[in-house]
Amino acid sequence: MIKLSKRLEMIARRVPQGSRVADIGSDHALLPTYLVQQGMISFAVAGEVNEGPRDAAQNQVRSAGLGAKISVRLGNGLAVIEPGEVETITIAGMGGSLIASILDAGKQKLTGVRTLILQPNVGEDAVRQWLDENGWLLTSEAILEEDGKIYEILTATYNEANENQEAYESMRQQLYAPRVIGQSEDGEITLSKEMLMRLGPWLVHDPSQVWVTKWESELAKMDRVRVSMSQSDLESAKQKKEILTQEMKQIQEVLTCLQKVQP
Ligand code: SAM
Repeated sequence: MIKLSKRLEMIARRVPQGSRVADIGSDHALLPTYLVQQGMISFAVAGEVNEGPRDAAQNQVRSAGLGAKISVRLGNGLAVIEPGEVETITIAGMGGSLIASILDAGKQKLTGVRTLILQPNVGEDAVRQWLDENGWLLTSEAILEEDGKIYEILTATYNEANENQEAYESMRQQLYAPRVIGQSEDGEITLSKEMLMRLGPWLVHDPSQVWVTKWESELAKMDRVRVSMSQSDLESAKQKKEILTQEMKQIQEVLTCLQKVQP
């Protein structure tokens, strides 16, 4: 039996029981192997664009004796699946822009897919943006720390059956509707749509210590960039520094405000 990392285990827990799954960028096919071994699913595609990880996936599946249940395929993104073949897609351990571009390039393969479970290593906002622009409802977000790294897991569903379309659309609109979260000396602190995309609409709603740690560390990184820009006399560097300063101020305000309202 395979033992997963905490990160992959949290992804596995979000896979709907009994669904057919495609794990794109599967590397050693750990996730699909675990899901089948646990009896959570009975069919999976493990997709890989590179031959090395594809071979590793094939070895894993063969040694687990699961060749009849897990199909290992070589190809770019969603090119490895047929429309209607799976109901759940997992894409983990890549940058957010790459995940969004894989989904965008494979839109026609998303027919019949009801659940996306996405774990970008960076650039989560690019994933949220793609989901929002393409009719997917972000239904949950999770955040965890493992081996000194922080990961976010985004789960989204698609209302393909058009059930309660009005309620579904209203939930989609509400998710990124600007929210007032407190007061500062300058007036109300409002979370804009852009800020919600960046910080995570569900994560902001229920800010955990890990989430606060993540944004404190992001602020420290931004500050280092700001300091390096201060050493340049270029007008463009001065402008970038100004934008960065504003962004940092907004994020800091939100962190301070949300930490105050924590019980
Ligand atoms: N999903 C596993 C996880 O989260 O532990 C493996 C992540 S590994 C860091 C990223 C994998 O994605 C690599 O094996 C890489 O070959 C694969 N990959 C990158 N771009 C891809 C694409 N466009 N289509 C399929 N696989 C891709």
